[in-house]
Amino acid sequence: MTFSIHGLPVARGIAIGRAVLVASSRADVAHYFIEPASVEAEIERVRAGRNAVVDEIHRLQHSVSQMGPKEAPHELTALLDVHLMLLQDEMLISGVKHWITDRLYNAEWALTTQLEVIARQFDEMEDEYLRERKADLEQVVERILRYMKGVALPITPPTTPHRKTQQDLLLDDTVDVPLVLIAHDLSPADMLQFKQSVFAGFVTDVGGKTSHTAIVARSLDIPAVVGARSASQLVRQDDWVIIDGDAGLMIVDPSAIILAEYGFRQRQGQLERERLTRLRHTPAITMDGQKVELLANIEMPEDAAGAITAGAVGVGLFRSEFLFMGRQGNLPGEEEQFQAYKRAVEGMQGLPVTIRTVDIGADKPLDKSQKDGTSLNPSLGLRAIRWSLNDPAMFLTQLRAILRAAAYGQVNLLIPMLAHASEIRQTLSLIDFARAELDNRGVPYGPVKLGAMIEIPAAALTLKLFLKNFDFLSIGTNDLIQYTLAIDRADEAVAHLYDPLHPAVLRLVADTIAECNAQGKGVSVCGEMAGDASHTRLLLGLGLRSFSMHPAQILAVKQEVLRSDTSRLQPWAQKVIESDDPASVLNA
Ligand code: PEP
Ligand code: MG
Repeated sequence: MTFSIHGLPVARGIAIGRAVLVASSRADVAHYFIEPASVEAEIERVRAGRNAVVDEIHRLQHSVSQMGPKEAPHELTALLDVHLMLLQDEMLISGVKHWITDRLYNAEWALTTQLEVIARQFDEMEDEYLRERKADLEQVVERILRYMKGVALPITPPTTPHRKTQQDLLLDDTVDVPLVLIAHDLSPADMLQFKQSVFAGFVTDVGGKTSHTAIVARSLDIPAVVGARSASQLVRQDDWVIIDGDAGLMIVDPSAIILAEYGFRQRQGQLERERLTRLRHTPAITMDGQKVELLANIEMPEDAAGAITAGAVGVGLFRSEFLFMGRQGNLPGEEEQFQAYKRAVEGMQGLPVTIRTVDIGADKPLDKSQKDGTSLNPSLGLRAIRWSLNDPAMFLTQLRAILRAAAYGQVNLLIPMLAHASEIRQTLSLIDFARAELDNRGVPYGPVKLGAMIEIPAAALTLKLFLKNFDFLSIGTNDLIQYTLAIDRADEAVAHLYDPLHPAVLRLVADTIAECNAQGKGVSVCGEMAGDASHTRLLLGLGLRSFSMHPAQILAVKQEVLRSDTSRLQPWAQKVIESDDPASVLNA
């Protein structure tokens, strides 16, 4: 039966494929595709894990049999029997084999996927006793996973794209069809892992439009919807789904007519993209001759290639925290970071690279399992520069690595989330200290321009302090909106109130741009607002000439730039920001 689920549009386009459900309860489990040659080895890993648990239960059964009825109640013996039975269950074993062999899922993913399939069947059982056995099954699978950690083999995920045309898709209903990922939640680190994989689209139950998960999804340039509430409950493994990333909609089990309609729209979208690629080498200059800088936001050094392909004239935001995530707390050392930054700098072929120091915290935990449950309010807690200043040794390591990479090209050093004069002072003296350390060691390093993110209203309201201490400013609208409007950017429940066009937000953005321009300091916007082509004219009218965004958004924004006349936009933009209802003036 066809039904649709509404969420928030995150990344444009249409994806059609089969649903792959990621078990959120096992968020710590790696999900990647294996090489076909590794299928047997992967099945063996599960088998070894299962056998280890079977042995463990046998040992337990043996010791229980030595005890008297008081220490070993009947329930315990019965429970061990149930666990053994579940471990030997054909459905578990054959299902896991199916996911590994036919879908090339890694062993842990196959196991948790099959757990999800069986758990749903347990949920539907009439008999309460049987229904409750689901918890036993979960325990058994947890144990296998624990054993498997010890026998895990490092396998690199393949990078072959799986995308197929609609025509192929209708003809071929076997294994090689596009896959769309459905999850309750995905951490930014999860998303990074999926970056190398083959999904044609994403849907998550939770998240706002500018949550970091959504940002990474957008950087993958594939259709995505977040905040789809109960999508992961309603969709079943392998269901056919359409993701409409423009409307923020998912259609499950679509009819042939709907499929044909969306197939048509998918092709139209592809044609539009192809048309835009013609602008790749066109300089971004407005009709009245204003030069505009279109920069790329990247998460990993390897993204530099995509930035060059998209025609970016530099990197305006390298979110360095992605180098720190998903490493079980083993943070990258100076050499590893230096190599990564150097790769990004060299990848940009002489164009400038703005490296932002680590912004860990809030919805970007170091590890998925370390979701910040300890802070009362993680967005207001030890995040970004606060986290760095709290661990000067870690911060100095990063600063040295960035300064060293600056010997290989033009590097700008950007500091996130500053608000206080004391934070600025500490940061600047740590940068001096890092230079002195490199001098003492005789290690070469290069000059950097120093920048501060304006993403807390307090910073936007004390610009003088920032302009005195920094060479350039970069407006992080994602957080500026979050902190101005008191809307958690990752919370879909308040996503309707997250408004880049709120007069208070526009006032802070406009004043920051105007003040920087007046003082001849560089200013750019690197939040999601910069990559939204519907805001390009407004930002140009406010005097912005430097935009940083996902590479995939550059050409659409460039098209707007080429069609704009800033001399006409300027008075109009003033009207927009002075209005009580800027959206209505903008869209008039
Ligand atoms: C922002 O806040 O706008 C920004 C660019 O930083 P991040 O999205 O990484 O918080
Ligand atoms: Mg930010």
